[in-house]
Amino acid sequence: ASILEIKDLHVSVETDQGAKQILKGVDLTIRQGETHAIMGPNGSGKSTLAYAIAGHPRYEVTSGSILLDGEEVLEMSVDERAQAGLFLAMQYPVEIPGVTNANFLRTAKTAIDGEAPAIRTWMKDVKAAMKDLRMDSSFAERNVNEGFSGGEKKRNEILQLELLKPKFAVLDETDSGLDVDALKIVSEGVNRAKENTGLGVLLITHYTRILRYIKPDFVHVFVDGRVAEQGGPELANRLEEEGYDRFLTVEA
Ligand code: ADP
Ligand code: MG
Ligand code: MG
Repeated sequence: ASILEIKDLHVSVETDQGAKQILKGVDLTIRQGETHAIMGPNGSGKSTLAYAIAGHPRYEVTSGSILLDGEEVLEMSVDERAQAGLFLAMQYPVEIPGVTNANFLRTAKTAIDGEAPAIRTWMKDVKAAMKDLRMDSSFAERNVNEGFSGGEKKRNEILQLELLKPKFAVLDETDSGLDVDALKIVSEGVNRAKENTGLGVLLITHYTRILRYIKPDFVHVFVDGRVAEQGGPELANRLEEEGYDRFLTVEA
């Protein structure tokens, strides 16, 4: 099984006022097949972690490392990260005008596998995955995320996840803006990927609601760019009852 190790990660972001330190030493180890929930108040750096793993140019890793089976992810291009088995579902999925969903998926699959998928089985897989996610078949011929509702974008992210079959997925606020029915459909998709491919999941969420459907093995609470506390699923239950108040101490 593969292993993703985040070690003493420091990340700063370029702002109009100069560089601002956001992550201040994050350590996390995720094995394939495990689900880790990253929770925390708004502004604690959860999305920054996702962007750093994704290789977003605006987020500069000032020290630390991210190793996938011992290989330094930080030295990989964005494409190489995908080829190595990393999948990132962003809080705000991007629209790609002029590129249909079907073409995007096939191109991504080809880039990741190093060869084009056999057309017959591929079409069958795409159709089946879309049906599972209750996506109308017309979404295949629409431009990626263009004019999609928030919930449709989230389903589309999970469609990519199911078809591209990564080793690890970072899901940033995949639950945001979903009603209960959509949340269940999206969660089932993630759970299928866990069962079928032994996916390792980094599930970033502000709210505990999605954790009723996608069961975490470990919970990490982010506060001010660090992991302030970690535990098992019971920690999520505690956060559901108490919120984040006890982490937000006012500095003297
Ligand atoms: P979370 O996802 O936990 O809500 P973020 O990682 O989005 O937190 O943000 C952490 C902190 O970094 C916040 O104070 C946010 O304003 C700041 N930040 C993140 N990205 C940027 C950016 N591109 N420009 C300026 N500030 C940023
Ligand atoms: Mg936020
Ligand atoms: Mg965020």
